[in-house]
Amino acid sequence: MNIILFGPPGCGKGTQAKRLVAERGWVQLSTGDMLRAAKAAGSDLGKRIAAIIDAGELVSDEIVIELIAERLPEAEAAGGAIFDGFPRTVAQAEALDQLLADRGTQVDSVVELKVVDEALVQRLVKRAEEEGRPDDTEEVIRNRLKVYYGQTAPLIPFFANQGKLKEVDGMGSMDAVAASIAAALDEK
Ligand code: AMP
Repeated sequence: MNIILFGPPGCGKGTQAKRLVAERGWVQLSTGDMLRAAKAAGSDLGKRIAAIIDAGELVSDEIVIELIAERLPEAEAAGGAIFDGFPRTVAQAEALDQLLADRGTQVDSVVELKVVDEALVQRLVKRAEEEGRPDDTEEVIRNRLKVYYGQTAPLIPFFANQGKLKEVDGMGSMDAVAASIAAALDEK
């Protein structure tokens, strides 16, 4: 099973991905987590991407596609991948389709978590207080939303055309959203 959790920053992708890991044993593939780890490790890659992440811009498609490709065997062995924060551009989505096709598999479902903008900003500001992520300042948050609507939201019609898009109300409690995701994934 390969699923994409899709939606703007702060919509709950990471939280819900972790629940699916716990409940279904699948592997969470979060490019944001991978990039933050590279940055924290101070690797060559980390140094190249630090300023981009801190500004809320997108790192290059090549970099994230390579990070994902490296992790596909592990997800396959676990029986499922939950793509979280990837793909973020049409080029990334096309590359993912190709990578999976090369392995004889495909994206099964795309779950879009729908959350209104004001709630996103509130959630991200709260996360900034709790986790201190440098890209969670109000200015960068607003830029990340702009980048989402400009570069990532165009994926919605892309996935809809493939017949894979499932919309889920992301405004409820964590449990309610998890139940809606489960229902969307398990519907025939
Ligand atoms: P996230 O934790 O998913 O919100 O990602 C944090 C930051 O990492 C983003 O604001 C981007 O700078 C970068 N990033 C994460 N995933 C991607 C991706 N698929 N493509 C480009 N940049 C990404």
